[in-house]
Amino acid sequence: MSKNALIADLEQRLQQLDAQSLRRTRRTAETACAPRVEIAGREMLAFCSNDYLGLASHPRVIEALREGATRYGAGSGASHLVSGHSRAHAELEERLAQFMSPQISDARALYFCTGYMANLAMLSALGGAGTALFSESLNHASLIDGARLSRSDLQIYPHGDVAQLAALLQASTAATKLVVTDSVFSMDGDLAPLPELLKLCEQHGAWLVVDDAHGFGVLGRNGRGALEHFDLSSPNLVYMGTLGKAAGVAGAFVAAHASVIEWLVQRARPYIYTTAAPPAIAHALLTSLDIIDSVEGMARRAQLQRLIKQCHDELHLHRWQLLPSDTAIQPVQIGTNEDAMRTAAALYEEGFWVPAIRPPTVPAGTARLRVTLSAAHTDDDVARLIHAIQSLEAQA
Ligand code: PMP
Repeated sequence: MSKNALIADLEQRLQQLDAQSLRRTRRTAETACAPRVEIAGREMLAFCSNDYLGLASHPRVIEALREGATRYGAGSGASHLVSGHSRAHAELEERLAQFMSPQISDARALYFCTGYMANLAMLSALGGAGTALFSESLNHASLIDGARLSRSDLQIYPHGDVAQLAALLQASTAATKLVVTDSVFSMDGDLAPLPELLKLCEQHGAWLVVDDAHGFGVLGRNGRGALEHFDLSSPNLVYMGTLGKAAGVAGAFVAAHASVIEWLVQRARPYIYTTAAPPAIAHALLTSLDIIDSVEGMARRAQLQRLIKQCHDELHLHRWQLLPSDTAIQPVQIGTNEDAMRTAAALYEEGFWVPAIRPPTVPAGTARLRVTLSAAHTDDDVARLIHAIQSLEAQA
């Protein structure tokens, strides 16, 4: 095949995406991640980031990033196991282990460049031939890819179906068993039944791997996430929290028993074979953690809870559906890709930036607006969005 035929083939496939309203595009933000963001010369009111506590543009976090760059330079220069592991990374890992210690016995933490990589690392290092990996059907793409990379025997259990998982665990004769779940489902906002899942894992000698990307910093009185929310603690837990969402910067960490973490350091290829994140990022995250673990952090979580309640109390829909979620992710399910796209475009016209989420990210026929709330929003911001969504539904 000549080069042009290859390109023609791709172009045809891109046209197919257009025909199905599945082409994705990017908008270029000119200003910081915050409720008000400038796009193409216009100020938009944004309900699309995962900056749940408003720390991405917090002056203290920005100053810490600056200070980190002055102290440690711009880049790490190498992978952690060669020479890229700095004092900032080490301090962050110690702080994270301490922070998570009420939830995890003999906790140690390991910092990763992204949550995607942390998930690939955990599952590929803990799984393998002879391991049965039980994956919840709505898990994030990075867990799905990690499960595939691990070459474990993969079994998918239906969303929230503890009884089905129990039957699968009962029937399994695998030497190692991993149950893998999001804590907060990223496109639905609901919570996994973690207490029941942990009980099953303890009964069956299985690991419970929890992806708390959307819970860390937000859930629990002190922001320790879903495990604190449910008051869970167990040596069977392997916990992943992301640091680019509520913590407002970038990266992720795995917290687990020290032996699990040592195994990841020895065996997790997505940890070993990549350049360490800039130390300045780890340094800035120390300040994010200070805020999360403070009175200010509590006040930010309380403001977020007020906004979630405002959505529940005031957003009344007839044909569209506000999905049942108590978290900062408040999806409005619309149905077809075209209707979801048209609604997101109409909102955009009115100055609201809310993404439309389509397959394959969500099942066909359940395209939705993914409204995300942040402590940086005001009650008035949310009231305006509610009014705009209700008016569009009335016109649709
Ligand atoms: N897990 C879940 C549930 C997520 O939503 C995301 C990010 N969208 C990730 C993992 C990946 O985290 P990161 O963005 O840090 O790569």
